[in-house]
Amino acid sequence: MADSPIYDVLVIGAGCGGCSAAMYAARFGMKVLMLGELPGGTITQTHVVENYPGFETITGLELGERLLKHAQAYGAELKMEKALKVEKKADGTFATTTDAEATYLSRTLIAATGAEWKKLGAPGEKEYANKGVHYCALCDGSFYKGKTIAVVGSGDSAAKESQLLAEYGAHVYVFVRGHELHGEPINNKRVAANPKITVFTDVQIREIAGQPKGKMTHLKLTKPCAPMVKQADGSLKPGQPTDSFPADALFVLIGHSPLSILLKEMGVELNARAEVKVDRLMRTNIEGVYAAGDVNDSEFKQAIVSASDGVVAAYSAHQLLEKKK
Ligand SMILES: Cc1cc2nc3c(=O)[nH]c(=O)nc-3n(C[C@H](O)[C@H](O)[C@H](O)COP(=O)(O)OP(=O)(O)OC[C@H]3O[C@@H](n4cnc5c(N)ncnc54)[C@H](O)[C@@H]3O)c2cc1C
Repeated sequence: MADSPIYDVLVIGAGCGGCSAAMYAARFGMKVLMLGELPGGTITQTHVVENYPGFETITGLELGERLLKHAQAYGAELKMEKALKVEKKADGTFATTTDAEATYLSRTLIAATGAEWKKLGAPGEKEYANKGVHYCALCDGSFYKGKTIAVVGSGDSAAKESQLLAEYGAHVYVFVRGHELHGEPINNKRVAANPKITVFTDVQIREIAGQPKGKMTHLKLTKPCAPMVKQADGSLKPGQPTDSFPADALFVLIGHSPLSILLKEMGVELNARAEVKVDRLMRTNIEGVYAAGDVNDSEFKQAIVSASDGVVAAYSAHQLLEKKK
């Protein structure tokens, strides 16, 4: 065990929730350690953010970097380590062990671990991972300049990221399982107005197919859909519908699963979606443990909501320590 000092709060996660929690906690005069494998968090993996109050438009990367710097400016320490285990000790403190074989002690704990990309579960997804199948448009979209790109998903991520992918690809096809795309209305309108994006509804991807040990080449669909075909005058028209749809890439944008396993293992209550149950003060069922952002059971998973949760969690942790003085 550690020669670690006892931190007032250990924040697991360095995204919008974690950085905001760390910034507030540091300003409350608490000794703060923030652990984060991905500094700045998930928001750094989207191209532009247009709905974070105070910024009409900002790149996701810049927003993540600013949040991180803000927390560090007030003295929060950051270590880019993965927390592997958290234990509540008999004296009420927490011991967090990381992949750097370090153990950190803290009086309170804020989990802001976010969520991971959901997998589609279709045959071929694993085989063609990074050989056509991707989850992050900003990270991998530029590999497909001038290519045919497919997107599967029906929420705001699909609506937003297909616009970015259309900047790279020759054409982007969005496959929606339900009757319509339900992103933010402004993003739905932009998709509808973009001549490089075609949306197919009421269709699912049965299989991702391609060359053996090579790249993906097409998608097997539950119903025939018509790829766009270039005409002699350069315009595009729908061609012959096919259920074996040619595509160089598939971006799977079907949502996220909360990264709540660490808390579950220490006895924190989760809901049926494996999100951490919290009250309005971000308190879990274990005293001194708080959960902020996409990992908790908040309904609306957005950067500003995570930031707000982080602030409230820091406030609650501070209140608890004040009470115990
Ligand atoms: C493609 C896409 C586009 C989006 N666009 C927008 C948008 O335009 N506007 C908007 O408001 N929201 C948007 N969102 C949602 C937004 O990104 C999230 O709501 C927000 O980033 C969640 O913040 P968080 O702090 O809860 O989690 P995250 O940002 O996911 O951060 C989690 C942090 O925890 C760390 N972590 C996880 N497990 C461990 C561990 N065991 N040990 C150490 N560290 C760990 C990660 O490395 C990371 O630092 C978008 C999301 C996606 C995927």
